[in-house]
Amino acid sequence: MAIPILNLKPEVEELWEELNQAVQGVLKSTQFIMGPNVKAFEAETAAYFGVKHSIAVNSGTDALIIGLRAAGIGPGDEVITTPFTFYATAESVSLVGATPVFVDINPRTFTIDTDLIEQAITPKTKAIIPVHLYGQAAAMVPILSLAKKYNLKVIEDVAQAFGGEYKSKKLGTIGDVGCFSFYPSKNLGAYGDGGLIITNNDQIAELARMLRVHGAKRSYYNELIGYNSRLDEIQAAILRVKLPHLEKWNDGRRRAARIYNELLAEASEVITPVEDPDAKHVYHQYTIRIRNGKRDRVKQHLDQAGIATMLYYPVPVHRLPVYKKGSPQLKVAEEMAGEVISLPIWPTIDRPTQETVVGEIKKALAQL
Ligand SMILES: *Cc1c(COP(=O)(O)O)cnc(C)c1O
Repeated sequence: MAIPILNLKPEVEELWEELNQAVQGVLKSTQFIMGPNVKAFEAETAAYFGVKHSIAVNSGTDALIIGLRAAGIGPGDEVITTPFTFYATAESVSLVGATPVFVDINPRTFTIDTDLIEQAITPKTKAIIPVHLYGQAAAMVPILSLAKKYNLKVIEDVAQAFGGEYKSKKLGTIGDVGCFSFYPSKNLGAYGDGGLIITNNDQIAELARMLRVHGAKRSYYNELIGYNSRLDEIQAAILRVKLPHLEKWNDGRRRAARIYNELLAEASEVITPVEDPDAKHVYHQYTIRIRNGKRDRVKQHLDQAGIATMLYYPVPVHRLPVYKKGSPQLKVAEEMAGEVISLPIWPTIDRPTQETVVGEIKKALAQL
């Protein structure tokens, strides 16, 4: 039996009736853009996070682009971020005309190494984008204190951590802006593309709302060069069905992570994920490290056994073609890119499936 990296079938089956009713409701209303579901979803997410403003957009990438511009980031500015993330984090900085400045990561949490941020700050630095990678919070206390000292904006990339927490605060509510993705594989996924911006700052919210609809407060009285970046009603209706189940699903991911930790405890050359005691990790990915250059051969073995795994990320962003010229060596990120492997995880994955995955990992390591 093949084991996928993510199985969305259980949630679709669980919510089949509600999802059908939600989609049919949109069809019957014939209101497909900026209708009652988007409005309600924005109100429901604002309440979930306890924030003043929630602005639905077309994707997580657009949430970052619009979030950055609404926070006043633009040409000539530098934005400090991690190289160990999905490309869109840095790409969005470049798309608003600013320059990403990459700072190495902490090898235990895979998030930005906050001890290295201060030395990367220049007079051009305007913002920091911490990425809550794999569902675990970046260390927000030192990030916020540096932001305060140097008057920087903090834009949280929460694409992988909807529902995650840091010191009991929901991720995305700690910095100036929180940016989320509803790509189907994310912890709260739509059945298409989608994204969300949250903030308590009225001015940022007003600008973000304008930028998502061609820079207009009022249709046809456009004031800025903006975007067409609306969440559609069908996706909003689906997300409204799913949101009330998210905490339970995140708990299921945490339970699965504990089981993996237990099953892998004895495996030598394997480093299981470390939970920062300040963070509530929501395990968008369960990512281990395999030492001594054996990662690729273990992956090959798992592929042959029909067990899907992924490498997030095989090349750190500062080594990709667009950014590699003149970029510094970032040793930890480069080392991690050669060791990480993400295992199958979803909220209802069962123990026997996890035992099969771990059994094959141990078999592969014993043969190497
Ligand atoms: C998925 C993701 C994004 C981009 O979101 P899209 O909805 O795919 O545009 C940005 N940053 C991180 C860390 C992501 O994982």
